[in-house]
Amino acid sequence: MFCYCNSSTSYSQCCEPYITGVKTAETPQKLMRSRYSAYCVKDADYIHNTYSSAKRPDNSVGDIAAFADYAKFIKLEVLEEIANEPSGVVEFKAYYIAENCLYTLHERSNFIVEQGAWKYVDGELYDTPVTKVGRNDLCPCGSNKKYKKCHAT
Ligand SMILES: [Zn+2]
Ligand SMILES: [Zn+2]
Repeated sequence: MFCYCNSSTSYSQCCEPYITGVKTAETPQKLMRSRYSAYCVKDADYIHNTYSSAKRPDNSVGDIAAFADYAKFIKLEVLEEIANEPSGVVEFKAYYIAENCLYTLHERSNFIVEQGAWKYVDGELYDTPVTKVGRNDLCPCGSNKKYKKCHAT
């Protein structure tokens, strides 16, 4: 079973050590992937703590936890990474299901290094379509299973 972030390694070898604090993300992409996985495992504290200090007050743990409950993330695609310490950019598409619709969070995110650790600042969102997912459709996660047998809630 691969990591939630769709890498080719297991969760314990990929995002878990960052989320549990064993390791500090070495690149903005690793931080971005671990924040994505933290939404999957609903670790709102980790997501909160990896915002830059300036953005942390705007993103409460409660709001993050509510979104993690609402949105079921099913797939991640990283499109581009520019790591130029002390700042970086990652463009990605994160797919999630909410109320039987498929959403695409297509974002170009900005990261900075604060006290030796990469942190998420903010991002520019692209307009993306929202599509209804029928219970007998193939699940948009790519499992080749019917939605009702896969990621349906
Ligand atoms: Zn991962
Ligand atoms: Zn699925």
